[in-house]
Amino acid sequence: MKSDIQIAQEAKMIHIREVAQTVGIEEEDLEFYGKYKAKLSDDVWEKVKDKPDGKLVLVTAINPTPAGEGKTTTTVGLGQAMAKLNKKAIIALREPSLGPCFGIKGGAAGGGYAQVIPMEDLNLHFTGDFHAITSANNLLAALLDNHIQQGNELGIDPRQVVWKRCEDMNDRNLRNVVIGLGNKMDGMVREDHFVITVASEIMAILCLSDNLKDLKERLGRIIVAYNFKGDPVTAEELHATGAMAALLKDAIKPNMIQTLEHTPALVHGGPFANIAHGCNSVRATKTALKLADITITEAGFGADLGAEKFFDIKCRQAGLKPDAVVLVATVRALKYNGGVAKSDLGEENLEALARGIVNLEKHIENIQKYDVPVIVTLNSFVTDTDAENEYIRKFCEERGCEFALSEVWEKGGEGGIALAEKVLETLETKESHFHPLYEDDMSLKAKIETIAREIYGARGVIYEPAAEKQLAKIEGMGFGKLPVCMAKNQYSLSDDAKKLGRPTDFDIHIREVYVSAGAGFVVALTGAIMTMPGLPKVPAANSIDVTDEGNIIGLF
Ligand code: ADP
Ligand code: MG
Repeated sequence: MKSDIQIAQEAKMIHIREVAQTVGIEEEDLEFYGKYKAKLSDDVWEKVKDKPDGKLVLVTAINPTPAGEGKTTTTVGLGQAMAKLNKKAIIALREPSLGPCFGIKGGAAGGGYAQVIPMEDLNLHFTGDFHAITSANNLLAALLDNHIQQGNELGIDPRQVVWKRCEDMNDRNLRNVVIGLGNKMDGMVREDHFVITVASEIMAILCLSDNLKDLKERLGRIIVAYNFKGDPVTAEELHATGAMAALLKDAIKPNMIQTLEHTPALVHGGPFANIAHGCNSVRATKTALKLADITITEAGFGADLGAEKFFDIKCRQAGLKPDAVVLVATVRALKYNGGVAKSDLGEENLEALARGIVNLEKHIENIQKYDVPVIVTLNSFVTDTDAENEYIRKFCEERGCEFALSEVWEKGGEGGIALAEKVLETLETKESHFHPLYEDDMSLKAKIETIAREIYGARGVIYEPAAEKQLAKIEGMGFGKLPVCMAKNQYSLSDDAKKLGRPTDFDIHIREVYVSAGAGFVVALTGAIMTMPGLPKVPAANSIDVTDEGNIIGLF
């Protein structure tokens, strides 16, 4: 069996100019990064903004195994299949983070015969967006420390600096550092922290901004620290907004690449799916809706996190109205949810499947709460058996839920035709009456409790005393109307990664709450969330190389 990178490198790419032409974009509106990557100029939006929107399809998944269940693969394959059916479709994905490519093996450009290419570029430096975000983030950090050094007119309390430096690398040694060591001219000594670039609030801001003006307003609102009186200090007060925006002026433009079958893909932005909202940029999504009849997008993690935030944060803020949801399930994840150990997932086990399928059931019910039609797709693995496939099909059909087997990993677009037909039928025959789960006017606690009860199936919510105080302070600061961004493990519907299936009789524990004022959400942390990953004992970096001819090998 060929590896993802082998398949990707064997593919014959066409010039990105030709890919763009299929959705009506002229060469003059492209900013080329070589032959196979381009940014869309601002003129594209000006030209298409009055056109009617196409349909918006979200791809999400059940609670996964640690290997990932194929949301990106399905998104790409579905786009390829739409093209096979002569439908004008665009794929809208997130950009992968560079650091994790060198950690635990696992791609972020899809897999098998459903990939976006050039995959090496996408997984590594791509068009430099993450470099720009890292620079803007660290400029703000430098301006903040310089302000303290130069007399601290704003009275910033060095113990209450909340802005962190960032880097796009898995480097656990930078999680907790001391900066400013040396003499008087080397800065004020204080404890500092690094996060990975995708966890920077700037990434979330870039993804939620409508345009440069909106970007600047959001950057200005970032809370970097609190002063000695306990009041927030913003990036605007540090006069950082303009310079940060200057660094980000190209990063805010969507990137276009192609699938293995030359379907256009806008790959833009990549915020964390825990402390941020885990969706590609609003700008790319809105542009895609104007350019194509069908836009297919993905949200990170399972539907309890990804779809919830897509609906309640991204769609709420951007005024988007999704038309259908594709819910990806795999036999292995259902068996995993039924209690099977990771090493035994390749064997047929109908009893475990029957125990684990309650997880799928809960996610179907959850999406129905938003009144958006749902189609379940089984991402087929070669180890799956017919009996297992039939069991899942029957389970869905008995609940009046559309079902399609997807073989895009093995067969590309051809393997996604059954799914594409179901999606098209759904778009034609079922209306979406999308609405967010909760109202802006509800208190932050009521929002958290609504998500916990309705989506996770929790009994209630328990707040640590610190979280109680933070909630009161955030509402006092006037941020009570913002949506809540839940940070939770992705494996369980609960906040305990070991409670698989469809847990009941559990509480959600809120440890810490803070506001991302620029992004426009309040983050509620359940348990400890890692914002700077580490490397495993044998990192993937050990097997990555480049040949004398310049070909990258070993990248998945
Ligand atoms: P997600 O987006 O849900 O995290 P991905 O689409 O990135 O998942 O897939 C995760 C990994 O699983 C990738 O390495 C991909 O190649 C692999 N994969 C996905 N679908 C299949 C499949 N049907 N058979 C074998 N491997 C698959
Ligand atoms: Mg993915």
